[in-house]
Amino acid sequence: MSKVMVQLKDVNKWYGDFHVLKNVNLTVTEGEKIVIAGPSGSGKSTLIRCINGLEHHQTGELTVNGVLLNNNLKHLEQIRHNVGMVFQHFNLFPHLTVLENLTLGQIWVLKKRKQDAIDLALKYLERVKIADQAYKYPGQLSGGQQQRVAIARSLCMSPKVMLFDEPTSALDPEMVKEVLDVMVELAEQERITMLCVTHEMGFAQRVADSVVFMDQGMIIEQTAPDEFFRQPKTERGQQFLAQIL
Ligand code: ADP
Ligand code: MG
Repeated sequence: MSKVMVQLKDVNKWYGDFHVLKNVNLTVTEGEKIVIAGPSGSGKSTLIRCINGLEHHQTGELTVNGVLLNNNLKHLEQIRHNVGMVFQHFNLFPHLTVLENLTLGQIWVLKKRKQDAIDLALKYLERVKIADQAYKYPGQLSGGQQQRVAIARSLCMSPKVMLFDEPTSALDPEMVKEVLDVMVELAEQERITMLCVTHEMGFAQRVADSVVFMDQGMIIEQTAPDEFFRQPKTERGQQFLAQIL
């Protein structure tokens, strides 16, 4: 049996009166790649944000690498160390160079020596095929390049789990492929556990172990990608697929 990396048991969350996550159960083992799909407003971002404690769930249990996410700040810190996140909008620091964006967290959070931080940053910039941009500022890069920097920045923190929230949906169409290629490579090379909100079906089919389909705050089904794209188990899954195809 593989080690359980992320586990949600009967997780519920409300925004005021609005029940946004309803009895969510999900187990993700180490190295597993999960794609989360579903209509806009179904709770995908909220679910992802709960996993690294950016949002708080009110009931149920959420663990990452065996650490329970609760009010204990030590736990939150451990979980944040283990979990990297890549957003739709890249969230780079605009006043820092690409290289400084990649070394900042390593130096201040992981307390690494500057030269070690730079070496690792350059390694990951190489990996996302952008080493020649190290001394530029984010604003001087294309959207696709900025998103690849954001992915490299996350990797520099050596996370066990990477969360992606629609990483390609803010990009011009011609830049989607360069970011997906990097993500596919990452999925194929790294032992890393990935949860990725995306409607990129090619990506899902290539790398996902399963597709989690959400609707109205619930996980409606979890299905292997081939099967999901051929014939979702549920009617809601079928309706959703008909809309995105
Ligand atoms: P998705 O990522 O699937 O589009 P979200 O998780 O962003 O869905 O949002 C789920 C629902 O929760 C939506 O109806 C959204 O309007 C609502 N919501 C999201 N964030 C907040 C918030 N901070 N306060 C109140 N409602 C929110
Ligand atoms: Mg969202």
